[in-house]
Amino acid sequence: MTSPHAFWVAGRRATGADSFDVTNPYDGRLVGTVSVPTDAQVEEAVAAAHAVRDEFAATPAHVRAAALDHVVRRLGERTEEIAQLISAENGKPIKWARGEVGRAVSVFRFAAEEARRFNGGEAQRLDTDPGGTGRLGLTRRFPRGAVLGIAPFNFPLNLSAHKVAPAIAVGAPIILKPAPATPISSLILGELLAETDLPAGSWSVLTVPNDKMPALVQDERLPVISFTGSGPVGYAIMESVPRKHCTLELGGNGAAVVLGDYASDEDLDWAATRIATFSNYQGGQSCISVQRVIADASVYDRLVPKVVAAVEDLVTGDPADAATDVGPLVSEDAAQRVESWVDEAVQGGAELLTGGKRDGATYAPTVLAGLPDDVTLSCEEVFGPVMSLQKVDGEAEAFAAVNSSKYGLQAGVFTHDLQTAFRAHRALEVGGVIIGDVPSYRADQMPYGGAKQSGVGREGVRYAMDDYTYERVLVLTGL
Ligand code: NAD
Repeated sequence: MTSPHAFWVAGRRATGADSFDVTNPYDGRLVGTVSVPTDAQVEEAVAAAHAVRDEFAATPAHVRAAALDHVVRRLGERTEEIAQLISAENGKPIKWARGEVGRAVSVFRFAAEEARRFNGGEAQRLDTDPGGTGRLGLTRRFPRGAVLGIAPFNFPLNLSAHKVAPAIAVGAPIILKPAPATPISSLILGELLAETDLPAGSWSVLTVPNDKMPALVQDERLPVISFTGSGPVGYAIMESVPRKHCTLELGGNGAAVVLGDYASDEDLDWAATRIATFSNYQGGQSCISVQRVIADASVYDRLVPKVVAAVEDLVTGDPADAATDVGPLVSEDAAQRVESWVDEAVQGGAELLTGGKRDGATYAPTVLAGLPDDVTLSCEEVFGPVMSLQKVDGEAEAFAAVNSSKYGLQAGVFTHDLQTAFRAHRALEVGGVIIGDVPSYRADQMPYGGAKQSGVGREGVRYAMDDYTYERVLVLTGL
């Protein structure tokens, strides 16, 4: 029997008394056993993060940037090994897992770059009022304190990177808590951090079970919580600690709008291919997957067969196979939930155009039309490979349909018209509007986060750095 994967307490490798298994959702194979920290080890990590906060905030930018550069290099060198691990623990097709490692490399690279230029400060003249005569304000940003970063299962490495890299960039200690289904890639990130000169205590990776999380969330020595995951868990955390600074990156039911000017065969082929791919990549388990396709009546009838054909072209199967486009969901339970939602929609009158079948944890890419308003799929995030098609009359009706959701993460609008692009930007109640593509586009340096019930605050390296810090003004008198 191989020894369990260690966690990281204040930068040091450690194991606890208990452990749990991580299995591949595609075939149930054991991927690894992961050690669980004891309460004393969790306390050691929190105490160390709290104790090191001033020292870490004062660590020179070049030291923090060099540590981030080191992770960039090492992630690059270990890409294939880590991609295979992500694919195994998550069920993500290997080609998408390789892409995820590449994105994590970018996140650490952006953070290294930002660490070198962040906090240049701003000078503000205060003598614009008589009371400020002879005074000058100097503003700089300082860390709020140690961060508790809680990551979801669907991008286990990259969303952990989005917690850790900005914290190192600003000099805020961080405790990372990976998702129980997919902790191993975050533990490997710990191996890379352990090779750096970052101060002991400035980072920990703790595989704390969910039932032990409320105590960690409540701990006053961790004043910042950066959470990515589902709405119920995220809002319960925020409500339990109203005086903490919380960022919540939550769910969505992303819409792709295809407008009447997007009408050539070439246009519709592009839109259909992008919609099919990004409704189903990683089994639809992305918060910005395409769940809703809202198409103008003038193009709808030509778009539908192209979307169905593109979906049927996707290869479903073993995530380890380079040809696979769509792997399993994270668990058989998750696939059963998706199946029950689709069944409910079909019984309610929706038309099943393709898919609708389950094999263990794998759910076939599915396209529905004519979804009734009152079924679960119309209101909630499916987080599975399912899209619904809706016909609308014109831009105003399309934008109203996008905004009818309680979520507002990102929206895609297929149009060539610049005026329409600006109107979409103004009208759509989302954190990001993507013109000429699906809502699923994300560049890791851009501001990313939700409106409405998709969350609070923004990630994207520079924006998370703002979030982890606050402005403190220095007023100089007698100048
Ligand atoms: P989840 O809410 O079940 O779990 C997220 C994390 O919270 C995990 O690490 C989990 O162990 C932890 N957790 C669970 N109970 C907790 C508690 N009581 N206290 C503290 N932490 C606790 O979410 P998931 O299933 O891992 O991820 C899927 C969800 O994440 C989807 O809703 C998806 O849309 C969302 N998501 C959002 C974004 C975004 O950036 N907006 C990105 C990816 C995923």
